[in-house]
Amino acid sequence: MKKKRIIFLIFLSLIILPPKISAITLKEYENLVDKYSQELKEKEDKMAKNAAEVAEIKEKISKIEKQIIDAEEEIKNLKLEIEKSNQKINKKEKESKKLIKYFQVITNENTYLEYIFEARSITDMIYRISVIEQLTDYNKNIMDELEKLIDENNKKTIELNKRNKDLSVLKTSLSSEKERIEKETRSIEGTVPSTKGQIEFYKKQVSYYKGRGCKSNDIIGVTCDIPPKPPTGGGGNSDVGSGVIIGENGFRRPIIGGRISWNYGGVHKGVDFVKGCGTPIYPVAPGRVYYKGNTLDNYGAFMILIVHNVNGKLVFSQYAHLQGYNVNIGQDVDLGTVIGYMGSTGYSSGCHLHLEMSENYGWAYNGTYNQYTRSIINPFKYVPR
Ligand SMILES: [Zn+2]
Repeated sequence: MKKKRIIFLIFLSLIILPPKISAITLKEYENLVDKYSQELKEKEDKMAKNAAEVAEIKEKISKIEKQIIDAEEEIKNLKLEIEKSNQKINKKEKESKKLIKYFQVITNENTYLEYIFEARSITDMIYRISVIEQLTDYNKNIMDELEKLIDENNKKTIELNKRNKDLSVLKTSLSSEKERIEKETRSIEGTVPSTKGQIEFYKKQVSYYKGRGCKSNDIIGVTCDIPPKPPTGGGGNSDVGSGVIIGENGFRRPIIGGRISWNYGGVHKGVDFVKGCGTPIYPVAPGRVYYKGNTLDNYGAFMILIVHNVNGKLVFSQYAHLQGYNVNIGQDVDLGTVIGYMGSTGYSSGCHLHLEMSENYGWAYNGTYNQYTRSIINPFKYVPR
């Protein structure tokens, strides 16, 4: 069920996005330089924006931390005040008790009522009552005020603790936001080298084809930089080596002798030739070298790509895992040119040559990468077995 749905989706996407069939123009390479330059600029802008945001969040966090510390200091002071108030209350309580006792002691009686009733006159009695009342009332008022202060301080402490809790929550969410932004920046940073690589690659393509006389609207390999035609019936001007079979179409094997260790088919998109490290490698047909290097992917490592013109049809050959080059980009080669030497660079477990060929579309030459992979052919369509 699932597989059918995926196949249907691929089918649908092919209808919506039909593969591009025209060859690439120089303008398209120039557009790719612009596209990746724009992408790089956007990435750099985003990273700068993120850095500013992170700085702002850091400032907020440090303000919150200061607020928390200040509040903790205030809580400490409030506790001290509560402690002092409690001590004062205890002191006043003792004072009041002492006061009552004092009057009891003077009158040598057990209760202060007796002191009052001992009054020599009504005036004296009223005076005695008022003295005791005033003194105890005074202390009671002080105690009430202190109780009120304790209450207030307790309330303040609770409020401050609650605020600190809220601030901590805010700080945590700001910290995770900061981490999210930093993570995003790191992931963007990781893609910058590949974008820069793309810009470099397409810039090189533009300047290379400009050097080959291509104008913006020229179609590469068709209206400019047209590869040389091979001499029909095979053979170039130079010695191709003894015993080399040349096919009717002028193609040859890329090495003299040796054996085939892996044929074309399935996941293997080329033919592997084996004959010892350093074996000279020849182009399968006369043509023009349009790429040499190890920047296209990691699999082939050191590679040479050649474009051939077979009666007006573009045919491409790729030579991978080389240990050295013998030609330059733009160089026209014939059947006798040693282009490089057998090696084991890239994904390789021993010295061999991976020969890959395609028709109409060449890797990093015209069209897209997908167009190229779809146009890969069995090299033995041209190369004699
Ligand atoms: Zn291979």
